[in-house]
Amino acid sequence: MEKKPYVLPQLGFGYKELEPFISEAQLQLHHQKHHAAYVNGANTILETLDKNRREGVDGDLKALSKAFSFNAAGHLLHSLFWENLAPAAKTAPKPEGLFAKAVDAEFGGFERFKKEFSQTAITTEGSGWAALVYCRQTNRPLLMQIEKHNTNVIPMFRVLLVLDVWEHAYYLDYKNDRAKFVEGFWNIVNWTEVNARLEAILK
Ligand code: MN
Repeated sequence: MEKKPYVLPQLGFGYKELEPFISEAQLQLHHQKHHAAYVNGANTILETLDKNRREGVDGDLKALSKAFSFNAAGHLLHSLFWENLAPAAKTAPKPEGLFAKAVDAEFGGFERFKKEFSQTAITTEGSGWAALVYCRQTNRPLLMQIEKHNTNVIPMFRVLLVLDVWEHAYYLDYKNDRAKFVEGFWNIVNWTEVNARLEAILK
């Protein structure tokens, strides 16, 4: 099989389409600079590994592996994040389908889920993410915080919904007011995608 580099995915919407919740300038910067940096970072490490192997050089595998997990997970999380989003006019105001039922069963309703997810996002220390995952051992949707991009990669957890709370995700639009950004986020969640992910897991 032919080796392929990581590729920055195209967004499923225009840069202006998430306004006023995420501005064109903020989204463009986030996608074209920050996300692209993780894609390039992961590719550079793969090239270094190839080169070291070709030349019989050991390389610093401790540093390379750590940097690889940071960059590859950054790429993965941003890719999931973009698919989690949709223009406010095109998305339902609340969860739908099987996912709505799972939220009711776990949290006792959408409002409680929204509150817990928001708190998870707002209280994430430094740079990181809030994530809703589905645990296949317990059959429960669970909230977790991710530090930096170093995902809690646990094979039995599948990601349903993520929110990037690195400052680079909101500083142009909201300065240091992360809570305001999180509040705006609820207007642009692609619930159809979230539900489709859950359906794919439970199928
Ligand atoms: Mn980001």
